[in-house]
Amino acid sequence: MQPSLIIGRIAGIHIGLHYSWILIAVLLAGSFVGYFYESNPNWQPRVIWSAAIVITLLFFGSIVLHELAHALVAKAVGIPVRTITLFALGGVANIERDAATPKAEFWMGVAGPVMSGAIGWAAAALASSWGRQAVPALMSPPVAVLVSLSSLNFMLAIFNLIPGFPLDGGRVLRAAVWWVTGNSDRATRLSARVGQGVALALFAFGVWQFLAVDGIGGVWLALLGWFLLDAATASHAQVEVVAGLRGLRVGDVMSSECARVPADTSAQRFADDYVLRTGERCYVVEEEGTATGLITPSDLKQVDRARWPDTPVRLLKRPLHQLRAVSPDTPVVDALETMGKEDVNQLPVMSDGRIEGVLSRRHILHLLQTRLELSM
Ligand SMILES: [Zn+2]
Repeated sequence: MQPSLIIGRIAGIHIGLHYSWILIAVLLAGSFVGYFYESNPNWQPRVIWSAAIVITLLFFGSIVLHELAHALVAKAVGIPVRTITLFALGGVANIERDAATPKAEFWMGVAGPVMSGAIGWAAAALASSWGRQAVPALMSPPVAVLVSLSSLNFMLAIFNLIPGFPLDGGRVLRAAVWWVTGNSDRATRLSARVGQGVALALFAFGVWQFLAVDGIGGVWLALLGWFLLDAATASHAQVEVVAGLRGLRVGDVMSSECARVPADTSAQRFADDYVLRTGERCYVVEEEGTATGLITPSDLKQVDRARWPDTPVRLLKRPLHQLRAVSPDTPVVDALETMGKEDVNQLPVMSDGRIEGVLSRRHILHLLQTRLELSM
């Protein structure tokens, strides 16, 4: 998930907010206002409102610390993390690839809940030393805020330890299965299946709670279940894709018969004689017999259609030296990762400084479809 707004940077990791977070922050603060009106009717309205806002901010601060714990362990085992995003259903650290060993996976998964448990414990200890009371109405606003913060963090730790992927508990389960069987694909499949089960149960329970007990909390749970189901299903599908591609090299999949376009061809002729005639998506731009760049139909959009007749493709190409190239020996799975990171749909395939062909997402998709048809 990409953040809509970056609010800060910790240890080189951007902390961002997704728009959906604002809605949830308002809802959460609102429900704390309601809660304090009930539990501490002796407080002034402005005290109630301040306490509700403070606890909401502290809770989101705790979520950032939870995600930061995951992210710092990931960085410690050599996996880059660029952002942490807060959104409607909590936080997510954008960890760029999967752990290489079950041990790393275990520590990455368990770090968040450990952090939340530690915050919960620290807040409870602080509340006790500041005069915690058995009855909420007798507590001062700072103590009441600490007590709520403590239970929210304990709930966060326990909920995340539910053993269904992609929850933290699911990662721990995955690490355990991986460690026992030595097979990471099998471990992901199993923990994603458990994750789907947990998500369905959560969804059903939420709907039941909404209808039977008529609590707004039910809507929450149902929404959370929905989100988890989606994420668990995506993890399951992803493992199938990766397993299907494992062992394949770029050289097996790439297209080596890329059409070549002379550099002085006009954009108009390129569109008429190449793109519209062949329907191909990727072309090699050639200058005096050597390939100097790639051009795709979407590169044509850089200039106004009226200027196509007198704009040579040389000016629209992406120069080879600016593109991340792969070699024919690169595993297809790694090439896909590079495409994701660079946000491109094709990569030039080079060996010994010469262009051997082009690998595109379309080739890979095509291959997967064919394989799927054969396996059915
Ligand atoms: Zn977590």
